[in-house]
Amino acid sequence: MKALIFSDNSDIAAQIISAMRGKMAADVAVFSPVPQGFDEYGASRVFELKGDQVSESAFAAISDIFSKGGYDFFLAGSTVRGREIAGMMSEKFNLPAVTEITEFLPEAGKIRTKRFFYGGKTLLEEESEARVFTVMPGIAEASKSGDKSPVETVSMPASRVAILKRVDKNAASVNIEKAPVIVSVGRGIGSKENIEKVKPLADAVHGEIAGSRPVCLDYQWLSEDRQVGLSGKKVKPKLYIALGISGQIQHIAGMRTSKVVVAINKDKAAPIFEEADYGIVGDLFQIVPKLVNALK
Ligand SMILES: Cc1cc2nc3c(=O)[nH]c(=O)nc-3n(C[C@H](O)[C@H](O)[C@H](O)COP(=O)(O)OP(=O)(O)OC[C@H]3O[C@@H](n4cnc5c(N)ncnc54)[C@H](O)[C@@H]3O)c2cc1C
Repeated sequence: MKALIFSDNSDIAAQIISAMRGKMAADVAVFSPVPQGFDEYGASRVFELKGDQVSESAFAAISDIFSKGGYDFFLAGSTVRGREIAGMMSEKFNLPAVTEITEFLPEAGKIRTKRFFYGGKTLLEEESEARVFTVMPGIAEASKSGDKSPVETVSMPASRVAILKRVDKNAASVNIEKAPVIVSVGRGIGSKENIEKVKPLADAVHGEIAGSRPVCLDYQWLSEDRQVGLSGKKVKPKLYIALGISGQIQHIAGMRTSKVVVAINKDKAAPIFEEADYGIVGDLFQIVPKLVNALK
């Protein structure tokens, strides 16, 4: 059995290659330039896709590789572009698809997968004959195999879409998915200005500030790239400090793999305490300065 992997996010691609090791041979396609060291994760081949990074062009190149390569499976990292291309692959090759998987286990011609269900409240374990999968970030730790993969350049055909200009969504963007410590604020923070009051805690623990959906999306007190949750980023820091976050399942879906969770909430019945290793019931504006003093 043999798989073709694609992700426009090379970190996710490296995680998927690592997850496939020992299960089946896997080739991987990523956009040019191939990051340094990316050929050391154990892929049989690395395809470097050159040209404008437009889904239509990437799909044309990837589907060509897939149809010539005798692949059994196509796995795309679950990003906006990965999901789009997985859909196109499923349609073009008439292959059943399972989306947003967190585990991939080949068993006697079938594939056993796991994925979150009911907004992350349950884990669905399925056995299927699916051939196309979108894979959630974090399916495995990216780990080098010790072997070097050959890298082949593939030119993506020109698209009918021309990229005229690229504008960064947010020049000061952060990658909270990689942060080892996160201080996350919820609606309980009350206002954009109040976020300044918890920054000393983030500084003291060398953490990145993140937030729940109301904070990032509804009120825009933080930028959207700091949103944790089902429709935001999936994070797994060593330490996640939740301040004034109730802990609804859609938030938990983004941080449940954090190693240690500390929650501060004035409502002792808040569901976040079910996820927390350490919980403090009280007003975050009184507790945070005490924590900062203690940490100093
Ligand atoms: C399809 C879908 C996708 C979603 N995706 C996401 C997502 O990606 N991420 C996400 O976060 N949400 C997501 N949500 C929204 C989610 O359901 C919740 O509404 C949201 O997580 C609640 O955010 P919150 O905890 O900040 O606010 P609230 O639920 O309003 O909680 C605020 C908490 O702050 C506490 N509090 C108030 N004042 C203080 C104080 N002074 N000190 C201490 N505690 C205090 C309160 O007791 C309360 O528990 C999604 C919802 C849907 C339907």
